[in-house]
Amino acid sequence: MNTTPYALISNRDMRSLLMRYTAAHVTDDLVSAWLDRLAGCTAADVQEAFAGLGPAAARATPSEIADRIEAASDRTAVASPDVVVPLVRRPGAKAGTRRDYYRQAGVRGIRAVYAAMGWEHHPDRELARAVPCPFCKARTWAVCSPLSRNRAGVRELRDRATGMHPSRLDRAKKQLARTSTPRTEQETSR
Ligand SMILES: [Zn+2]
Repeated sequence: MNTTPYALISNRDMRSLLMRYTAAHVTDDLVSAWLDRLAGCTAADVQEAFAGLGPAAARATPSEIADRIEAASDRTAVASPDVVVPLVRRPGAKAGTRRDYYRQAGVRGIRAVYAAMGWEHHPDRELARAVPCPFCKARTWAVCSPLSRNRAGVRELRDRATGMHPSRLDRAKKQLARTSTPRTEQETSR
């Protein structure tokens, strides 16, 4: 295989993949049409997508290949929820959709983690991740940074079991209590 696997796909890579996998008559115009849609993908991503289609690759469209690459990159996000997936691999991703994308990937990641790891995964860790950290300012779903003293001079070490700052877990628990405890009406006050 004469493509460059980890670099962004080049004109030459695109041409040789089209010749290898599709039944199309590969013209310069065809190659640039495909490149327009798949710019930002690596040759390895594109090859994997073609290979995954099997015989259907012969009539594949650029959008079909782009969709497969996107789906594969979502699966990567699920397999390692702590890893931020670089969006360069997502063809056609728009800046405005990134936050939603991360959030959805995070939610899917957590489900997958629970399913795959069951009790081995500390549930408090996932709970804490559902809110931003008030101490180190880690965003929702991001893990806490190793920060142990903030600007205000407050010291806080991450909890060993969860890897999160305890105040973040507190916050998450309070939020959970607020949203999931039915209002108890009402033993006579005072
Ligand atoms: Zn934190």
